[in-house]
Parts: sequence; C-alpha cells; structure tokens
Amino acid sequence: MEINPSRLVTVPGNGKVSVGKVLCIGRNYARHAAEMNSPLPEVPMVFLKPATALTGPGTSVSVPPGIGEIHHEVELVALIGRRLTHASREEAAGAVTGWAVGLDMTARDVQARAKKAGHPWSVAKGYDSFAPLGRFASPAGFDAGNVTIRLSVNGRVVQEGNTADMIFDVPTLLSYCSTIFTLEPGDLLYTGTPEGVGPVQVGDRLHAEVEGLPPLEVGVTSG
Ligand code: ZN
Repeated sequence: MEINPSRLVTVPGNGKVSVGKVLCIGRNYARHAAEMNSPLPEVPMVFLKPATALTGPGTSVSVPPGIGEIHHEVELVALIGRRLTHASREEAAGAVTGWAVGLDMTARDVQARAKKAGHPWSVAKGYDSFAPLGRFASPAGFDAGNVTIRLSVNGRVVQEGNTADMIFDVPTLLSYCSTIFTLEPGDLLYTGTPEGVGPVQVGDRLHAEVEGLPPLEVGVTSG
C-alpha cells in the first residue's frame, strides 16, 4: 500500500506503522451509551485522535498528573488499505487491510467538563499514549461483525461484549466517514466500546482481546 512518508509514525513496541488519521466512534454499543446516560446516535458519532497518541503492545499508558479519572475503552480497530471517498458499504468492507484490538483511553473528568461546556473532546482523548494499539492481523477469515471483545484489568474481566452489538457495523461506519473525510491507506478506525468502562490506576495491567486477533497488554504509569 502507498503511504506518504511524512505520515510514518513510530509506535513503540509495534514497529513503524504508517498512520494517517485516527478516526474514532462514540456511543456505538447501546449498553455503553446507556451507562454514559447518552442518547443512542441516529448517525455515527465521529471524533479524531492525533496519531501521536498511539502506543504499542508492552508499553504503558502514561497518566498526566491532575487531570482526574482516566477510563479504559476496549475497541476493535480497522486499518484502511485503500483510498475511499463516498464509498459504498461493500467498497468500504473491502478496503480494510488489517484488524487489531485497541484502547481508546479517555480523560473522563476532562471529557465531562467539555461536554458540559459544549467543547470538543480532543483534549480528553488526545494525550500521548491514549491510543494503545495491538499488532495487526490480516482480514482473511476474520469476521469483524461477530467476535467477542474483552478487557481485563489485573486479571479481572471488566468489559466484555460482541461486535455484533455495534449500532453501526464497520462497513457502515467507513462508508459514512468517507462521505466526510477521504480515507487513505494508513488511516485507522476505532469502532467504539462495549459497556463496562471504568477508571485505571497507576500500576494496573490492561489485557485487551478481540477473538482471533493478537492480544494487547499495556501497563499504566504516572506521566
Ligand atoms: Zn471510544
């Protein structure tokens, strides 16, 4: 796949990943929307994280001092391998070149203040290391629409769901996003989290899994 070299990003522990945009979807599982007291979206709720937030397996989420609670959100991540503009669901489905498990770390108190003030979520979602990303697996034989997704903290399962429960499936999300942004090879899509989000503490071990993909293990350190 063709990548603009200026967009090469080193992901510690994950080698070089040629990442462009990091698209994320909010409220894509009904029970997570409910636990956040948020209404169900009628169209996908899209936000972006900077690619500098990425960090790889075996590294740590770095918690900045004084920003309150940091929550885990385990998510299925799609790597785009083909340029998409106003793509159909079928074109979008065929453009995914890799799948990984990721964590959309969220400064929940910062986000709550932003929501209240009508401000964007970029700060709450964008700190360095707030986008842990596992190793990619190829799409062959992987059914993104029906796999278990799970997060354990210190060996205890805290989030567990199935991608079949997504409100908008991945082809729909990519098709929709491609009507706004041209998607390019190297762009990522974090597809939303099932219920069970909660705070992490310095010293925690996070073990994220999507059935059929390499697991992702990261620690939590003070920043
Ligand atoms: Zn999320």
